[in-house]
Amino acid sequence: MDKTNVESFKLDHTKVKAPYLRIAKDLEYNGVKVRKFDLRFCQPNKEAMETGAIHAIEHIMAEEFNNSEYGIKEIIDFSPMGCRTGFYIIMFTEFDQKELLEKIKFYLNNLLKYDEIPAANEIQCGNYKDMDLKRAKEIVKKVVNNLELF
Ligand SMILES: [Zn+2]
Repeated sequence: MDKTNVESFKLDHTKVKAPYLRIAKDLEYNGVKVRKFDLRFCQPNKEAMETGAIHAIEHIMAEEFNNSEYGIKEIIDFSPMGCRTGFYIIMFTEFDQKELLEKIKFYLNNLLKYDEIPAANEIQCGNYKDMDLKRAKEIVKKVVNNLELF
């Protein structure tokens, strides 16, 4: 257990206070810098998001991050954690944590205005029936104003 090289396995999940945005890891390979963030919505081992809700948030955030007007082109990936307590965000460059937090809050406020989930169909998604926009909005409403840097 002590010998793990996995950053998130080294994190003491009893010591964090969700919701938060944390820099999980900085990597550099062949001169390319990458920063991984831990965006945690739920307090670990106390609560978790339902799959339909986390899936809906993932789709909408993908749409927001890739928006041609206000998106973030440095983003590589935004993916749910397997424990369903939050998301990982992987970005080119050592993207500023405070700037990302403000963008995430903006996107989450936009999420509250969606009437339907983008790409929620058989062609564009691998499990389109497992989506819950109503529950996604309830979760986002709870965290959006309390998200802080950690
Ligand atoms: Zn999907």
